[in-house]
Amino acid sequence: MTTTSEIQATDSAHYMHPFTDHKGLAGKGARIITKADGIHIWDSENKKIFDAMSGLWCVNVGYGRQELVDAATKQMQELPYYNSFFQTTNVPAVKLAERIVGLAGDNFSHVFFSSSGSESNDTNIRMVRHYWATLGQPERKVIISRNNAYHGSTMAGASLGGMSGMHAQGGLPIPDIVHIEQPYHYGLAPTKDKDAFGLEAAGWLEAKILEIGADKVAAFIGEPVQGAGGVIIPPKTYWPEIQRICDKYGILLICDEVICGFGRLGKWFGSELLGAKPDLMTFAKGVTSGYLPLGGVVIGKRVADVLINQGGEFNHGYTYSGHPVACAVALANIDIIESEGLVDKVLKETGPYLAERYAELANHPLVGGAETCGLVAGFALMKDKVNHIPFDESLEVGMICRNHSFANGLIMRAVGDRMIIAPPLCITKAQIDEMMVLITETLDATLADVTKNGWM
Ligand code: PMP
Repeated sequence: MTTTSEIQATDSAHYMHPFTDHKGLAGKGARIITKADGIHIWDSENKKIFDAMSGLWCVNVGYGRQELVDAATKQMQELPYYNSFFQTTNVPAVKLAERIVGLAGDNFSHVFFSSSGSESNDTNIRMVRHYWATLGQPERKVIISRNNAYHGSTMAGASLGGMSGMHAQGGLPIPDIVHIEQPYHYGLAPTKDKDAFGLEAAGWLEAKILEIGADKVAAFIGEPVQGAGGVIIPPKTYWPEIQRICDKYGILLICDEVICGFGRLGKWFGSELLGAKPDLMTFAKGVTSGYLPLGGVVIGKRVADVLINQGGEFNHGYTYSGHPVACAVALANIDIIESEGLVDKVLKETGPYLAERYAELANHPLVGGAETCGLVAGFALMKDKVNHIPFDESLEVGMICRNHSFANGLIMRAVGDRMIIAPPLCITKAQIDEMMVLITETLDATLADVTKNGWM
């Protein structure tokens, strides 16, 4: 099994991929990624590709970091595994918990570890329900989330998420999870004043709380910037108003920082930038830059105090909670982010530069609502952007654009007709320029197809 076609045939015969239509894939064969360095990946035909998605929003420090390899090797030699059950602990997990609490700020005191974002959100549900039950309010169980949110792919994660396609398979959501509309200004109300729309969108939370009864609502969960939903950047009025509403009704606020955490928006956590003070923060991805699976929940003092002092045993945990090798890699990863000043670089240099370059995309006939926040960015492919008319969904213009992007050596992702990027935080301004050339070429090729087909 050495040639591309041999690997593809075996892949198709035995490897069931995540989120994949296998019948469709079998006809053309999967792209095989064989190596990576910096912001680039290579496929089995030795084609070099600019990875503007950091893998799956996770390779924050870029590929090929020897420090992370060394940290993993050293830890594997010393103690490759031990659990944190039965009153036991390990040094990398302790150090990492302390380090993450330090980055998260004064509101926080503890960290619970898992191996992924999905598991961490399952932990959140268990934790907030246990919190309210401990306080004598077991009926406070409902968690409010948003349409088009992504919180993972387990039963609980997919239920918290607001992806209708995921709910449609397997009878989701599970009970006591409800959704409100997302704060997508460009998609829902582009002609309205943005700040006013932000307040209106946050108001949907209050309306839902009043509909259900505040005494039944445990928590609200949201990504500071919705990632997999298409990089939906809320108006700046949104999160402070969400915070005010949560405070007013005593509802716990969970910020899912799986994408926004560890520097992506130019702060260690996105909620800090956008004006929320969550009680719980979900993290994964960027904590190890994806080099090893690790996730968790940063726990605010309000919740930790109740769980620790009154909650008794919390009957929840994973074999790999606090995995020493994953934690050692996370510590080395945070060292790199700190020593290279990547968070500040995103805030002050590369983030603003990307914003400047994305603003220029507005001149392209296909592009509507181009927006960035730190190093995430998105725009919508529009049939008639002046009158805010999108393409017919069935034309799959986003997919056409994504295919041109791949062919052109750039990983850019399509969510419907929204094209999104989240490049590694180590990207330079010169590399942003390089990426913008590829994006513009991709857009021109897409425009040529769309025009040829008479779709606009
Ligand atoms: N939350 C958010 C905000 C995510 O973006 C993701 C993954 N894209 C998850 C949770 C789930 O993480 P995982 O795939 O590690 O389970």
